[in-house]
Amino acid sequence: MEETTGRSTKKKVVVVGGGLVGALNACFFAKRGFDVEVFETREDIRIAKVVKGRSINLALSHRGRQALKHVGMEEKIVSKGIPMHARMIHSLSGKQSPIPYGRKGQFILSVDRANLNKELLTAAEIYPNTRLNFDHKLQDWSAETGLMTFARSDGSNEQIKADLIVGCDGAFSAIRKQFLRRSRFNYSQTYIPHGYMELTMPPINGEFAMKPNYLHIWPRNTFMMIALPNLDKTFTCTLFMPFEEFEKITTGDEVIEFFQKYFPDTIPLIGVDALKTDYFRLPAQAMVSIKCSPYHIGDKCVLMGDAAHAVVPFYGQGMNAGFEDCLVFEEIMDQLNEDFSTVLPEYTRVRVPDDHAIADLAMYNYVEMRAHVNSKWFLFRKRVDNI
Ligand code: FAD
Repeated sequence: MEETTGRSTKKKVVVVGGGLVGALNACFFAKRGFDVEVFETREDIRIAKVVKGRSINLALSHRGRQALKHVGMEEKIVSKGIPMHARMIHSLSGKQSPIPYGRKGQFILSVDRANLNKELLTAAEIYPNTRLNFDHKLQDWSAETGLMTFARSDGSNEQIKADLIVGCDGAFSAIRKQFLRRSRFNYSQTYIPHGYMELTMPPINGEFAMKPNYLHIWPRNTFMMIALPNLDKTFTCTLFMPFEEFEKITTGDEVIEFFQKYFPDTIPLIGVDALKTDYFRLPAQAMVSIKCSPYHIGDKCVLMGDAAHAVVPFYGQGMNAGFEDCLVFEEIMDQLNEDFSTVLPEYTRVRVPDDHAIADLAMYNYVEMRAHVNSKWFLFRKRVDNI
């Protein structure tokens, strides 16, 4: 497995999953000089006609930016993000009240998920010691030998061995399946009763339909809608609601009735016809919170990103925490001289408590955003504390 070059002996690192965290991780390992291969089940999203996936845009915050900065990608991504300085709370009567995220000048950024993923794949590919393999779905792997089997859409299989396997294959990780077969692996998975649906708010006369530098929130206690701005001057609105409520609405007229009751200010902005059709375009999507520990097996395999800790999206930290995983791993690699046998357990020791805390905060914010954010007490506290 080890490949001897003119200057050094390079170990082979295989990153399974070329999503947000896998693509960034490939940059981290490549920068250190490892022989890196990424295996991704989808086709290359940079050339694909249709890119399937989760949310259209996401909020990038400080912890995510720090990781991007480490591989020289911060400016590139930030330049294509839209700063959101505050939440903008929409009351039922249409009144809008901003609640800043931090002190003056502090903000989070709305970024396009597909573009971020494409940029990170391209950044990884620039390293001569990195190879990206698309249309490769991990089927099976051995924790003892590091041998992985990938299936291709033409029915063929490919086998490859690595010194280190990095599982970045998301919430339903195939890598994690081997962990589940082992003793003393803790695992929990919770689906929340809410689902989510995305709707688009188009520009009006070529301009944003609402103030762009905010994360707009319509908190309605048991459910809520949020909207993040996009570079094309649209907003992506995400409706979070219990599945049973989604299912009660079965006709276009019922959609309008529902919006009239809870989000009347958005009807002229999204458009009656669009609401009537877009609501039925795709079913509401599920949200899961996954915690596990440890994150590693021996010196052979480590989990990062959603594969290690899928969180509900209400804290806007899933990707950010995954990016931070890469940075924390990098720091431990420095401290422990790239010795996988000590780096991996240390990574588990340091990272599990922090990721679990983020999962808990995300669950807490699930209620905070849709209910507490409505209360006068909350608005008062946010103003006094300036948070
Ligand atoms: P993924 O993005 O799931 O990528 C995993 C990759 O692995 C995919 O490309 C997949 O095709 C590939 N793969 C899967 N199985 C295999 C296999 N067997 N073999 C090979 N490849 C495989 N986070 C934030 O920080 N801010 C936000 O504002 C935010 N908003 C969100 C809104 C919603 C509605 C949702 C659902 C999530 C949100 N998140 C947000 C969370 C964020 O989307 C995830 O944390 C992030 O995508 C995790 O990245 P990842 O690379 O670990 O996993």
